[in-house]
Amino acid sequence: MKIIDGKATAAEIKSEIAKEVAEMIDIGKDVPHLAAILIGDDPASQTYVSGKEKSCKKVGFISSLYKFPADISEKELLKVVDFINKDDEVNGLIVQLPLPDHINVNKIIESIDPSKDVDGFHPLNVGKMVLNLPAYLPATPYGILQLFERYNIETVGKNCVILGRSNIVGTPISILMSRKAYPGNCTVTVCHSKTKNLEKICRTADILIAAIGSPEFVTADMVKKDAVVIDVGIHRVKSKETKSGYKLLGDVKFDEVSKKCSYITPVPGGVGPMTIVSLLKNTLKAAKKEVYK
Ligand code: NAP
Repeated sequence: MKIIDGKATAAEIKSEIAKEVAEMIDIGKDVPHLAAILIGDDPASQTYVSGKEKSCKKVGFISSLYKFPADISEKELLKVVDFINKDDEVNGLIVQLPLPDHINVNKIIESIDPSKDVDGFHPLNVGKMVLNLPAYLPATPYGILQLFERYNIETVGKNCVILGRSNIVGTPISILMSRKAYPGNCTVTVCHSKTKNLEKICRTADILIAAIGSPEFVTADMVKKDAVVIDVGIHRVKSKETKSGYKLLGDVKFDEVSKKCSYITPVPGGVGPMTIVSLLKNTLKAAKKEVYK
């Protein structure tokens, strides 16, 4: 069994991006600029946004944060998005989710200029992804694709089972794994809360991608020998084993599944670090006008 080291891969990609930014500066080009909108004071959202800002700084990007209280109106937020859309110095714009209930999330996402939508959530980018046209791919699925590539994992003709059908992970990764491309060319099955015989379906997987949001859901008896297992889940659970009193678990029971599979992503240090790196890659593409010319 081989551990897919997302932390090391992310560090490697970050240094490649930093090198490219230094080259852009050398030839007098503007450095990539990512703007983030953060609404309210949800601690998890604050942590994610500050992680994104730190990563931008690390690779030499400019980052700017637009912070507003939770009671900002939808109309005001739309004005802010419009203002950033029109700012030529900003290449990428993300709106940290979730948003307060009084704001229509789809309306906000659709108001982002698709050429700046580096989260890849705008329907135009989703459509382009489905049609295999140049698009910003959503960060977590894009991170998973890069792990397949960097570890030279064969995907053609494989049975790929995906647990979960969310808009940010399960659905886009199911589309990407079935595309006529590498990574891709898989025969994909998507499982969700209404799936019958889920365990049996999991056992058919050459590649199993768990994005179900349930700690240690996938056990060894659900995994075929030598399968590739990608664990997207992140759960902070109480633990007596750590100083902090907490530890992170994935959607896969790592100790037993890792003994049976050929490759596995650990939690933490697997898919997680690849998500931010993918956002950086999309922002670099935006600055270089690689997706929207
Ligand atoms: P989500 O929106 O909660 O979706 C979960 C999906 O799993 C749904 O499609 C749901 O089915 C399905 N599901 C839930 N329980 C099930 C069960 N018992 N049997 C079969 N299907 C079941 O989750 P998400 O946003 O995709 O996130 C999934 C996990 O990944 C979470 O732990 C999240 O924290 C983590 N995550 C990690 C990263 C990262 O960077 N590593 C990024 C995003 C998310 P229905 O559609 O039928 O409800």
